[in-house]
Amino acid sequence: MADPRGFLRTRDRELPSDRSVPVRIQDWDEIHRHPVGDDGALDSLHRQAGRCMDCGVPFCHHACPLGNLVPEWNDLTWRGMWADASDRLHLTNNFPEITGRICPAPCETGCVLGINQPPVTIKHVELSIVEEAFERGLVQPAVIDRHTASTVAVVGSGPAGLAAAQQLTRAGHTVTVFERADAPGGLLRYGIPEYKLPASVVERRLDIMRAEGTVFRCGVDVGTDVTGDGLLASFDAVVVTTGSTLPRDLPVPGRALHGVMPAMDYLVPANHAALGEPVADAPVATGLDVVIIGGGDTGADCLGTAVRQGARSITQLEILAEPSRARPAAQPWPTYPTIFRVSSSHEEGGERVFAVSTVSLLGDDAGRVRGLQVVDVEQVDGRFEPVAGTERVLPAQLVVLALGFVGPEREGLGEQLGLTTDGRGSFVRGDDFSTATPGVFVAGDCGRGQSLIVWAIAEGRSAAASADRFLTGRTELPSPIRASTLALRA
Ligand SMILES: Cc1cc2nc3c(=O)[nH]c(=O)nc-3n(C[C@H](O)[C@H](O)[C@H](O)COP(=O)(O)OP(=O)(O)OC[C@H]3O[C@@H](n4cnc5c(N)ncnc54)[C@H](O)[C@@H]3O)c2cc1C
Repeated sequence: MADPRGFLRTRDRELPSDRSVPVRIQDWDEIHRHPVGDDGALDSLHRQAGRCMDCGVPFCHHACPLGNLVPEWNDLTWRGMWADASDRLHLTNNFPEITGRICPAPCETGCVLGINQPPVTIKHVELSIVEEAFERGLVQPAVIDRHTASTVAVVGSGPAGLAAAQQLTRAGHTVTVFERADAPGGLLRYGIPEYKLPASVVERRLDIMRAEGTVFRCGVDVGTDVTGDGLLASFDAVVVTTGSTLPRDLPVPGRALHGVMPAMDYLVPANHAALGEPVADAPVATGLDVVIIGGGDTGADCLGTAVRQGARSITQLEILAEPSRARPAAQPWPTYPTIFRVSSSHEEGGERVFAVSTVSLLGDDAGRVRGLQVVDVEQVDGRFEPVAGTERVLPAQLVVLALGFVGPEREGLGEQLGLTTDGRGSFVRGDDFSTATPGVFVAGDCGRGQSLIVWAIAEGRSAAASADRFLTGRTELPSPIRASTLALRA
């Protein structure tokens, strides 16, 4: 156990301050600071890790899909045993530097200390361990010297594909990752803004994977450039991790107007531009009134991006009512509660409007969007009913639809590999991530539906274990979840 009286001595959470808003919105650099090797920061980290109670039943394990060994690495951090802490961290998580930055941390809402005190700063301890470990040269490629004769194709290089590929490479198989974008990373590289997760952080991990022997073939659209049959003929197993890429649309009059677009059509070019990569005809918010429809995290990322591009005004609309600040009684500890959350982007500007629905999009003579007709709504028997007399027009020359995703693309690869979809549009797989086509496995958002990085990594690890068992008849790879494992939620 870390400090036996730590949680009594240190009752508050301490976190390093972010870069100040006026400074950080001038650039695309990471907003959070991660002081490494700094004495003051280490003292604070020591106190925070020491708050972990090593409680009898650590719910943080259960709340984390990866089953992270949180009390163990809190203890090792408190003792300053960085190499051991890093080993424990990497035992369950291939990419702690990514979850440590942008996971919503279900572990913290499950922390037992959180019953009557602020929970342990688990996510920050995680990030501190891995960044210290990188700084000290402790994170090195795990190059194996015995190879099997088996080959595996992983299609898609988001966190699910990368985790599966690393696990299978380390099991001795020859792994090729196919990615249709020009560089690996999936949403980690071109979806999530640079100011939340720098591409250099992803690239640092990819370098380790390349050194371990994982091969990346980018710019290859599987299903078009390479067929499913071609993959099955050339590889002994295939892991499909193509993500949930079809955006949910807004079928209202005016949807086809110029200047109305799905979130990824806005965020991806903005991320390329932030990385200094050439982009043609990228939609830019500079000087415009921007309305983001969808009050979730993707919408918040659009908001932060529009702030940096110098939008004149930004409004984020959410159809649901504003959540309460405190845990609702029906969502007690240790569930992940629906509460009012303020993301770093919300600190930077814009207005959030709740309980409002878009009736139509209004255009000018040139076919460009000029505004939205909206109305307040209230929920009656699960339906959203308009509130009479609240109709109004919001000016907007850029409207971004951040309404979530409805599943993977089914044509092409999915059809060619014989994959079917379930009622939610996701690829069907068994509890062990296998599909009806022998040797083909499905993991990540394309099977689970739109989710989180931590789930994608857990799925990739588990699918890798199943693929390894399929190839060799046995496996020593860990399998943290079954495909049917549900998030610990109310
Ligand atoms: C804007 C945004 C912000 C987010 N922010 C967070 C966050 O802060 N924290 C968090 O936990 N989660 C966040 N998420 C969710 C998280 O990013 C996803 O749950 C996660 O990336 C899913 O991983 P994946 O590997 O299944 O798929 P993806 O990351 O979507 O990767 C799929 C990859 O497959 C490739 N691909 C698809 N089809 C083919 C094909 N036919 N051939 C070759 N390649 C193909 C795609 O190009 C892509 O690179 C965010 C999502 C979005 C959209």
